[in-house]
Amino acid sequence: MPENTALFAAGLLLPVSAPAIRDGAILIRDGRIAAVATLAELGKENTDADLRYFPHYTIVPGAVNAHAHLGFRRGDAPEGGPFSKWLARLIERLPEKEAWTEEAARNSAQEAIEAGTTFMAESSPYGECLPQLAESGLAGTVYAEFFPHEIGTPEEAVEFIVNRVRELRKGLPERVDAHISVHSPYTVDPESSRLAARRTREMGWRLAIHLSESPEEVEFVREGTGGLADIFGRNEWGGVGISPVRYAESIELLAPGTIAAHLATGVSEEDIEILARTGVAAAHCPRSNEYLNCGVSPVPRMMERGMRVGMGTDGLWSSPSMNLFEETLFAVKLHGMSGATGLRLATLEGARSLGIEAETGSLEAGKWADLAVIEALPGEGGPEREVLEAAAAGGVAATVVGGNPIYNRVETQDTGG
Ligand SMILES: [Zn+2]
Repeated sequence: MPENTALFAAGLLLPVSAPAIRDGAILIRDGRIAAVATLAELGKENTDADLRYFPHYTIVPGAVNAHAHLGFRRGDAPEGGPFSKWLARLIERLPEKEAWTEEAARNSAQEAIEAGTTFMAESSPYGECLPQLAESGLAGTVYAEFFPHEIGTPEEAVEFIVNRVRELRKGLPERVDAHISVHSPYTVDPESSRLAARRTREMGWRLAIHLSESPEEVEFVREGTGGLADIFGRNEWGGVGISPVRYAESIELLAPGTIAAHLATGVSEEDIEILARTGVAAAHCPRSNEYLNCGVSPVPRMMERGMRVGMGTDGLWSSPSMNLFEETLFAVKLHGMSGATGLRLATLEGARSLGIEAETGSLEAGKWADLAVIEALPGEGGPEREVLEAAAAGGVAATVVGGNPIYNRVETQDTGG
């Protein structure tokens, strides 16, 4: 952790939680933001600070990826199309995947860093990608998925994963932690789900789930039939005649500490009402949804109802990149949102969706100095769209986590001139 005082400055600063600042600067002490103002002001008061000035660039908060998987390799994703077909192919390849998961996780994390990501919410079986996340320099959480049929009774399965997460938490960097994921309504039985959700709440832990992702999931929960029943067998808990969201509520998965990924297929107005009432947050992964024929998540409606929504890339087997800004630009076009809304979703709303907005997600005093330097310097009026476009297209010049540059490909000027 750098202990010296540093100043990061740029031609334009977009704090997200406050208006844009031309020639703006951030004063950083011990990894946290001490002040945000113009370079003229902060430079005068802090002449001994180590200054990194990017006069032709824009500084934004680092991207918060609210739902991702690191352990998939670039370049050989199973064919897209129907979700259950893709999933069957993925499961078939799990034995060969073991050999290269670590390398894939390292590469995925590096790709995210070079695209301006500073916080990553990762989900992997039993938290297998935690070592690679921890060594990457990113801040983040690994949500450890568990599969009760591989373990034993619901009680044994939940005991196992709670102990596993306790083990995973030992010796981690300050800003990396581990929590539990109840993978999905079709892989985890209701009793294990309910028990895991209760335990996490008792301990103040957070929970990640995949929910209402595909047409096949909707069919499985409602009818107990279809492509997922073909893969996993006719589990006795499928076919309950209600939507996945209502089912998730009935087994106590929905709460403010839960992040639900996708919510893409079959999310009705009544479902949104349940989601809003229970305070659950959503992770929106529109490119994955498109690749797997999962429809379009009603995100604008969720936001109107006051739900917290973050953005997620998912993993490289269902998504073309780990670039969260690129994912967000896709969502901006898909839903006809403003660039300002997009930048907010990629940063501060992502942090809110994960319950970490006091720590990161915007450039304000007291938070960690998590930021990205983008190769763009838009003029007046709505600069966010142009900045998002640049970041989406590989224009991230530097990524800083807790005041520490973990990626930097430009020479900076050390004078205010
Ligand atoms: Zn996922």
